[in-house]
Amino acid sequence: MEFSFGIPTKIYFGKDCIAKNAGVLAAVGSKAMIVTGKHSAKASGALDDVTAVLEAEKKEYVIFDEIENNPSVETVAKAADIARAEKVDFVIGIGGGSPIDASKAIAVLAANTDMAVTDLFKNAFTKALPIVGVPTTAGTGSEATPYSVLLRKDMQTKVSFGTKDTYPVYAFVDAKYTYSLGKGSTISTAVDAFTHAFEGYLANRSTVISDSFATTAIKAFGKSMRKLAKFELDEADRENLMLVSLLGGIIISQTGVTIAHGMGYCYTYFKGIPHGAANGLIMREYMKLNYDVAKDKIDNALSLLGCESIDEFADILAEMLGQPPKLTDEEIELYTKLTQIQKGSMANTPHKIDAEVIKGLWSSIR
Ligand code: NAP
Ligand code: FE
Repeated sequence: MEFSFGIPTKIYFGKDCIAKNAGVLAAVGSKAMIVTGKHSAKASGALDDVTAVLEAEKKEYVIFDEIENNPSVETVAKAADIARAEKVDFVIGIGGGSPIDASKAIAVLAANTDMAVTDLFKNAFTKALPIVGVPTTAGTGSEATPYSVLLRKDMQTKVSFGTKDTYPVYAFVDAKYTYSLGKGSTISTAVDAFTHAFEGYLANRSTVISDSFATTAIKAFGKSMRKLAKFELDEADRENLMLVSLLGGIIISQTGVTIAHGMGYCYTYFKGIPHGAANGLIMREYMKLNYDVAKDKIDNALSLLGCESIDEFADILAEMLGQPPKLTDEEIELYTKLTQIQKGSMANTPHKIDAEVIKGLWSSIR
């Protein structure tokens, strides 16, 4: 056995964890940039909880609320200019993965004055402002990962970066912020969380420790999965799914993701399918492809989910997500080419992945 494990993020999980740990949040710095999307930070109640603490502790803050779904390099560069001009000394990302990922990019750009936004992806920086993550979706687990996934129009795909400096210093994880999430977003984000746990479980970089997190997360997803499909979630399910999301983040922070994520970016870029749903639509064929090389783990995962076969599980996902879009031959060619940009995901998948296998996967999904 040989492995390393560790994340520098200190996690506070549970109802009212921000108010209960106000001193921790306030001690991070003296002036914050709060990074959010347009509505959800307010709608979820998370923004009010954060600003109440900052105001009570006499900390200054500016709010940047322009983060779009699938944040672009242009938007984070704009926010970083403001962060520098305002001389903020920490960044608080509130929202789904999009604002939390964006806050990581802003924290790096603000701390490295002369850096071009595209240099983020070289992972060559050595400092970032301290980052705090407050998730309002139970999905990405970005509050516990170093990764930031940004949209690059010049490359027609999403590209990620992340180093030890882009882990949030604190994560405040309170499932009550997800109560305002509607059916479609709840399902898509929860499926993202599941795919992190499952892909991390299968990943070539998985370890005995990440596996123990993964089996806990997969079992927890199985507990709420059928209620999720019908959108009949109570507070305990919401908390359970938030735990899956957090564990999923911790898992992929160690293992990385695999080719399902690498492929999903094409659905998101070209078809506008939300990130989690995009991965979920690929799961049936992804599981079947990997079954010959990862039979024991896939059988164990199915048993933890309470399912007897890959198709039984994939049918539950289909009940949640519908069917994958029909692709033309030209689309399959293009998606096959673009999927190969995701070299790390390819190398991390247990089944050998090359251009032919990717094309075969896209062809079998359509
Ligand atoms: P998101 O893109 O952050 O948000 C999706 C939508 O849900 C937005 O319209 C958002 O509204 C809304 N929303 C968020 N929380 C809400 C709430 N509590 N109530 C009502 N609406 C709410 O979604 P996400 O799935 O969490 O994040 C996806 C992004 O994370 C993708 O870019 C993906 O590539 C990335 N990702 C990152 C990692 C990582 O490790 N860092 C892992 C997986 C995925 P607002 O716009 O108003 O906020
Ligand atoms: Fe993801």
